[in-house]
Formats: sequence, C-alpha cells, structure tokens
Amino acid sequence: MPGAATLLRDVFGFDAFRPGQEDIVNAVSNGDNVLAIMPTGGGKSLCFQLPALLRDGVTVVISPLIALMRDQVRALRAVGVEAGALTSGNTEEETSEVWQALDAGRLKLLYIAPERLAAGSAMGMLRSIGVSLIAVDEAHCVSQWGHDFRPDYLRIGELRRALGVPLAAFTATADAETRDEIVEKLFDGQAPASFLHGFDRPNINLTFAAKDGPRHQITEFAAARKGQSGIVYCGTRAKTETLAQALRADGHNACHYHGGMEAEDRRIVETRFNTEDGLIVVATVAFGMGVDKPDIRWVAHADLPKSIEAYYQEIGRAGRDGAPAETLTLYGPDDIRLRRTQIDEGLAPPERRMADHARLNALLGLAEAQECRRAVLLRYFGEDKPGCGNCDTCETPPDVFDGTEAVRKALSAILRTDEFFGAGHLIDILTGNETDKVRARGHDQLPTFGVGQNLDRRTWQGVFRQMMGLDLIRPDRERHGALRMTETARPILRGEQSITLRRDTLVTKSRRPAAKA
Ligand code: ADP
Ligand code: ZN
Repeated sequence: MPGAATLLRDVFGFDAFRPGQEDIVNAVSNGDNVLAIMPTGGGKSLCFQLPALLRDGVTVVISPLIALMRDQVRALRAVGVEAGALTSGNTEEETSEVWQALDAGRLKLLYIAPERLAAGSAMGMLRSIGVSLIAVDEAHCVSQWGHDFRPDYLRIGELRRALGVPLAAFTATADAETRDEIVEKLFDGQAPASFLHGFDRPNINLTFAAKDGPRHQITEFAAARKGQSGIVYCGTRAKTETLAQALRADGHNACHYHGGMEAEDRRIVETRFNTEDGLIVVATVAFGMGVDKPDIRWVAHADLPKSIEAYYQEIGRAGRDGAPAETLTLYGPDDIRLRRTQIDEGLAPPERRMADHARLNALLGLAEAQECRRAVLLRYFGEDKPGCGNCDTCETPPDVFDGTEAVRKALSAILRTDEFFGAGHLIDILTGNETDKVRARGHDQLPTFGVGQNLDRRTWQGVFRQMMGLDLIRPDRERHGALRMTETARPILRGEQSITLRRDTLVTKSRRPAAKA
C-alpha cells in the first residue's frame, strides 16, 4: 500500500501538503474522529479523499451542494479514483453505475446529499455496503443558529452511531459556538481530535532576494548565523555537495544530503542533524521527512522551490519551537525557466500542467511582491492578514517605479525580433549595445534599438525577470532561451493597463551587521 506522500504525488499530482493537511490526513487515515477547521480554498477535500484511498471499504461523503459533489466526483474519476454520487440530480444510468461499483466492491468514495439520509432505506443501504469512514463537508450546516442550517445534517450523528465508524467533519467556520454545536450534534459531545491551525507562522522571517552571486549570498547569510542549525535547499544534487564544501571552507559544520546517497549515509546525516547543535545540512527536497528538530533557526533556498506549497512546507521546518527563525529564498530567471521546463516536459496531463504553472505563478508573485510577503502568502491559503512587520518587504518597503513604458519597450523588442531571442540579446538591443550578433542580424536598424538607454543593464535584467515572474513572457521550450509574449501581456502592450515594478536593490541584506562575513 503506497503511503500518503506517494498518493499525494501520483494520484492528486501535488508535490507538497498544504499547511495543516498532513496532520489531518494522518489522523483521519488512522481512524480518529476529527474536526478540522480550514479556510475556504485551503484544501479540505484532500483531507478526506486521500484517507479514503488509504482505508479499506467505502468513505461516505456528505456534502450540501450537489454541483460541488458532482465536480468532485468528476475530478476524482479523472485521476482514476472510483467515486460516485447519489443525488436527486442523477440520471438512472448514473445511479445504476454507482450500484454496480458498490456491488463489485470497487467504489472508494460515495457522495450523498443530506436529503437522502431522510429516506427510510438509506440507513439500511449504507449498512450493507461496507462503510469505513464518514466525511462531512461544510459541517457547520448542523448548527441550528447558523444561516446555513440543514435539518438533514442532524441525522448524521445517528448515522455515525448506526455504522460505528469514525467521522471526519470539515468546515471553514471557526467560531467557538459553531464548533461546540458540531461536537455535540455529530460526535455526541465526545471531543474529536481538533485541527484549527491558522497558517501563519509569525516567528519565521520571510525574505526573498534576486540572485546576484548566489553562492556568496548563501555563504554571507550563513556567516551571519554561525553556530545555528540551518538547512540550505538546492535545486540539484551536485550543488548540495559544492555548497556544503564552500560552507565548510568558511568554518561551518556542514554536510550535504540528497536522494542519490546510500540510505545508511542519509540516515547518518538525519541523526546528526537531529542531535547535534549548529549543523548546516545542504540538501535537495529529499531532506525533510526524517527531520524532527524543533530548533532549526534558519532555512535558505539557494534555488527557487517548485510551488508556493513546497515553499511553505520547506520554510515551515524552521522555528517549530516558536522562537525567531529566518529564511532567505533566492530566485532568478534561470529558476523560472527551469521550473517552467520541468512542468512542460513532465508527463502530467494538460489540465494538471496548467494548474502547476498557476502554482508556480503564485510563488513568483510572492517573490516579486511589493507588499507584505506574509499577507500575500496567507491570502493564497485563504487567510487574511495585514502587514506583519517580520518580512523583508515590511522591513524595507521596496522601491517601485511605473514600469509600463519599460515593459512595452521590452515587448516591442521581443515582437520585432520574432520572439526568437533571450534576455541578453534583447537587452543589447534595448540599450543600444552594438555586439557582433546585433550587427549580424541587422538589429541595430530596428526602431527599438537603443530606446531603453534610460535604464542600465541591471535594471533591464530586473525588468525581464519580473516580466517572467508576472507571466508576461515565457521562455519558449522549443527554442532554447527564446522569450515569447503571453496573452497576459497584451493589455499592457495595447496601453490598456499599466504596471508597477520593483526597482531591484540587488544588495544582499545582512540582518546582523555585527556578524558580517
Ligand atoms: P476547500 O478547503 O475550499 O474545500 P479545496 O479542497 O476545494 O478547498 O481545494 C482548493 C484548491 O486547492 C483546489 O484547487 C485543490 O486542487 C488545491 N489543493 C489542495 N491541496 C493541495 C496541495 N497539497 N497542493 C496544491 N494544491 C492543492
Ligand atoms: Zn510583512
């Protein structure tokens, strides 16, 4: 039986759990009664869908909205999970399909509308099909005082008693009265395992920096934190080894870790990290599962993570003791190119690839954020939070400028050269740099030649990186490094939309001046 992490990746196509999901999935799979409160959009459905696959028998899902149920059933079937719904909207054919799957013992998830519980036959039917778990979506509908009250939800408690199986209740409504009512009505007043985590980890400082001599940026960051336990995440195995070496040369206690190492060697690093003080592990994302250390003081990303979920999970390993912890995430155009290529060249079906691009865009949006990073991060997970005071954009609000004209010039250079060139050559054109390549292609004759002389080369690099981050341009997979305009950029090109960009400071910030390398 594959584990939760494998199913998460292979069935649902996600590379990391969202905040809170893993603990809930473990408790539900384990057969605990669970009450989980998560903000809308936080990823509740996975918290019963994944355990349904880990458990024998059928998981009954009670959900108030027929349209939503049908969406979920469709999405599950699309990834090869046997799911069905019994609702008033079913065709006869759909209903008989569900019964066939139930009879054959194939069905893993059965969605039913609460109204069905009122039918006398429902209880007997559910008793006969081998239910092993009840999942209740929008559990606050059981609250008589709430505005979503569904009288049929009151029958769920009875169903749980009759079937004698665990129940997992989910809602986004967090007030204490509603919670008490859920516990009383669904669990007969016996407190279930409760999960009410805000996603915020206020003790973790969030900082991003554009890559500018990344190895030096990392060693300087580590030097300012000498003697503290930390993790450096790298995009490749080779880099973990060279960077660990560089850190040792600087006098740190550092070692590398990646999935290509012998299991025994990996275990040694894990044990050392968990027990020694002040060890730095330079690792790929393979490092994490075996880590159980509350006082990791910092996490640095030498390369951009894969998605906003992966970012949250990786930085979240820092400061679990609640004491201040720091993070630094580096990113540059090469990261963006690499991540896009990985998605495009992966084997995932087209819809999933689109979703992966969207998740990468969310992370890039965070990297280029002009307001509080924590606010941007938490908004993505459905939580509202005003400026935090503990991230680089709160501490030093970024210098921004109206980038509309610069972006339009860049787009024009791209289009006039038939979307055939990379940023380096385009910047040569914009700044009027007469290289051999520019002359050979006749690009010194273009109307765009030299129109960007008001900005220096570095600023242009920042403009191109941010354009990639904002998904205005994308590297063309077929032509190495060539940049193409996306549809998102069209309104800017047409002059219908303006855009604000960060002026890159491009100086590595050392938060502890006293310990400067
Ligand atoms: P809600 O909590 O509102 O029920 P959903 O379960 O519908 O939220 O999930 C919201 C979105 O988050 C969906 O598009 C889902 O695919 C996505 N999602 C859920 N879990 C993850 C994950 N671990 N990684 C990436 N995306 C996820
Ligand atoms: Zn902030």
